[in-house]
Amino acid sequence: MIPLTLPALSDAEKPFVTRLRIVPSDQESDSCCIEQAENQLLFSGEHGLFQVSGSKADALDGDIVIVTPAENKVERIIRSGSAQNSLLVTERCDQLCVMCSQPPKKTHFDRFELFTQAALLAENGITIGITGGEPTLYKDSVFNLIRTVFETRPDLNFHILTNGQHFQESDLETLRNPWFRNVVWGIPLYSHIAETHDEIVAKKGAFDRLHESLNYLLLSGARLELRTVILQSNLDSFPGLAKHITGILHFVEQWSIMQLENIGFTRNRWDSLYVDLRNDFKSIASALDIATLFGVNSKLFNVPLCHLSEFHRNFAVNSISDWKQRFGERCSMCSKIDDCSGFFEWHPPEFLEQVTPI
Ligand code: SF4
Repeated sequence: MIPLTLPALSDAEKPFVTRLRIVPSDQESDSCCIEQAENQLLFSGEHGLFQVSGSKADALDGDIVIVTPAENKVERIIRSGSAQNSLLVTERCDQLCVMCSQPPKKTHFDRFELFTQAALLAENGITIGITGGEPTLYKDSVFNLIRTVFETRPDLNFHILTNGQHFQESDLETLRNPWFRNVVWGIPLYSHIAETHDEIVAKKGAFDRLHESLNYLLLSGARLELRTVILQSNLDSFPGLAKHITGILHFVEQWSIMQLENIGFTRNRWDSLYVDLRNDFKSIASALDIATLFGVNSKLFNVPLCHLSEFHRNFAVNSISDWKQRFGERCSMCSKIDDCSGFFEWHPPEFLEQVTPI
């Protein structure tokens, strides 16, 4: 697993954003490595000297980081050359999804200013994720971040994960701003049956409120991705959900059907939530057929290719971020390893031994 947080020592008074360099740089935002020994790196920049441990210098070159002196840590917020960078803007959420991978916390530390500075330093043209918790609990701050970044960096793109509970008619003017053409909103919808969706997200009325938000997003011309995690409780409703999406939500750019991640709440609920698609794919296959027939672009996320028929491998995306992606030993014999999502680092280990190299 690629470490995203490393130990650091700095005398700075408050957290700061900088880009790490192993070669000299005259950019004010950069901190250059001036000494390295045994995984101890000394950087120098406008915030003074700071030491980072636990990594080789070249592995960090170009990373945009937040150094937090009070917590003796450096966070690799936007890693150089990585297509999978997300800003976790809050850990608060107003839903409590049964399979939440990042169980919410009550406290919120506002770091929007730091995240904005980090985004402004990003490599040209990349997509930056915004995630939580629920980012739109701080909707004005999210809108401000996007506005500020796009004023000088219209080349960037954002993908924002949201539970879709907080969009209002008054947001239409903001959402219609051309800057939002570079923003895709990723929104979970777990069933076409309101009670099933509400039960999964543990919030009564969430399905109806989500559809109200979808109306506003549709009216604003927003770009949308719908996301559905496969669970035992919604497996049978996939064909119905496909009809619902193709019927009234067909304007979405993509429907992402996602295999479960064994982390957060799921760790203790794996046996009652997980669907082994090698044995139970009929409902998903039917949903993919319906979506394809009606022109809704649908994809399978987090599903190893050898868990799928040859035909359905066409829907699979190599979706697991590099820093948490893992393969079984036998995967090294597989001709599809470069296209395969593999498994999450924390997937039950026995599954890694049950692969069938292609
Ligand atoms: S054998 Fe490994 S690399 Fe090949 S499809 Fe299965 S999980 Fe993916």
